[in-house]
Amino acid sequence: MLSSVQEKAMCNLCHGGKVVYHRVYSGEMLCRKCFVETFEKRVAKTIGRYGLLKRDDRIAVAVSGGKDSLSLLHVLKKIEKNFPQATLFAVTVDEGIPGYRDEALQYVEEVVQRLGVPLVKTSFEEAFGVPLNKIIESPSFKASGLAACSVCGPLRRRALNIAAKNAKATVIATAHTLDDIVQTYLLKAFRGELGSSDVGLRSEGPVIPRVAPFRLTPEREVVFYAYVVGLPFQTQVCPNASNTMRSPIRKFLTEFEEKHPGSLFAALKSFEKTSRTTEKNLNICVKCGEPTSRRTCRVCELLEMVTDTYHA
Ligand SMILES: [Zn+2]
Ligand SMILES: [Zn+2]
Repeated sequence: MLSSVQEKAMCNLCHGGKVVYHRVYSGEMLCRKCFVETFEKRVAKTIGRYGLLKRDDRIAVAVSGGKDSLSLLHVLKKIEKNFPQATLFAVTVDEGIPGYRDEALQYVEEVVQRLGVPLVKTSFEEAFGVPLNKIIESPSFKASGLAACSVCGPLRRRALNIAAKNAKATVIATAHTLDDIVQTYLLKAFRGELGSSDVGLRSEGPVIPRVAPFRLTPEREVVFYAYVVGLPFQTQVCPNASNTMRSPIRKFLTEFEEKHPGSLFAALKSFEKTSRTTEKNLNICVKCGEPTSRRTCRVCELLEMVTDTYHA
């Protein structure tokens, strides 16, 4: 929110535009045009600085229909224009959450049409033969004691990988923001896994690399970007959402950043010093043939645990 004094102020960068955004951690007061320009420039810089994308990549952008992923598609479409050898398409996964996902898909369709980006659709039904709503109704899911998100997350990542691979993608871009990345590092710290690998950076190996071009962009700015460029997006919360290990960490970090602006950037810097992206020697899952660090991958393990009908 802008104060009445801020509302009358002029943009720090162009000195002409009316202020619409206050970038608290840097002190900048920006007009609409300068906000959009600096936002997009930072994404391009992030890609360059970390080597997230290559000139001739075939980029699969993971889109859910929320503000983050549709904003990412919007920015990458603009950046891609400077890289004629690169191609871009959107991938979306229909988990099988009636009502919720259908609404999200409408926003995805609307935005890909507006931007002229091809869309690849897949579903749990297609990838695993069973939609999420069937999984969570099953007696074995109920007996497993797992939260819906704990099953949905790994399955969604796998479905996305399969669809991206079939569409010959060389990289998957996800809309994880600075906030998400710092949360993930902190979660890793609490699990004793910090230092093993970087989050959202490109690492080559048997799995299509996943990169996060919003690594240096706070969540708050992504919301504002979606709003100023006029993207429609889903605001409904997933009906299966439950408290996970991530929830208290998210709350803590958001409050901390509000009180001490710039903390998220500082935390990211610290985590980057302690982590190193290494190529892991992966096995092949004995059930599905996908790369895994164990004998049977987590996806196959989950599917066996929570479905009554699934046999790989
Ligand atoms: Zn300006
Ligand atoms: Zn497997």
